[in-house]
Amino acid sequence: MHPTATEKINIAIDGYSGCGKSTLAKDLARCLNYIYLDSGAMYRAVTLFFQHSHLDYLRADELEQGLKDINITFDHSGEQPQMLLNGENVEKQIRSQTVNEEVSQIARVSVIRRFLVEKQKRIARNKGVIMEGRDIGTVVLPSAEYKLFLTAETETRVNRRYEQLMESDGKVDIDSIRKNLIERDRIDSSRKDSPLRKAADAIVLDNTNLSREQQLLWVVEDILRHFNFIQLNKDCLLSKASR
Ligand code: C5P
Repeated sequence: MHPTATEKINIAIDGYSGCGKSTLAKDLARCLNYIYLDSGAMYRAVTLFFQHSHLDYLRADELEQGLKDINITFDHSGEQPQMLLNGENVEKQIRSQTVNEEVSQIARVSVIRRFLVEKQKRIARNKGVIMEGRDIGTVVLPSAEYKLFLTAETETRVNRRYEQLMESDGKVDIDSIRKNLIERDRIDSSRKDSPLRKAADAIVLDNTNLSREQQLLWVVEDILRHFNFIQLNKDCLLSKASR
């Protein structure tokens, strides 16, 4: 059943590591005035918490104790959403190589997944959310009105991630980026609990040869084709996307 003109929809974006899910989700959120939710940032924040605590997440009692002490929120007051872990802005720390290397192991733990999925569902309950991750279309928001599954060739993803990290960090090793992307994809696709999968009703978009603006245009047009009542911010395809 389609929502009426005054209602909002939920949008689920899934795909492999580094294929531009966050960029697209942020661009779309600006275009539609929707909330952007980066579910990977939540798994990263839990990883950071356990790396800084003396608790072992593989021990049931210590895991339970740790999760009781974790408060994850997003600060949406600035231009980019910032991840807050127990009130502290950890946006930069959660993107570190140390977190990259452990996050997929943490994300295999069912108790942690249940803890985060419940929060993700709650955030999306009033619609108007663009959520990206690995299991959004299949597990978190199976009834999202619009679902995308993004793909891109591995070397394209590695190069994009390299450029991104060069901008923020300055010193990165392309071989370790490649190794980490491939390893995370392997673990994420093969885990027992909610593995990375395309939802049966998701639209596949290979963005290997698309620029950021071309990708946004393609998706916006497709969304409007499905939901012609959706109102766009007038400048979304021009100034903002080319930043
Ligand atoms: O999206 P991002 O690369 O930041 O996600 C980091 C990791 O978090 C992924 O490699 C995956 O292991 C985990 N993740 C997940 N389910 C999600 C989002 C992320 O398992 N919905």
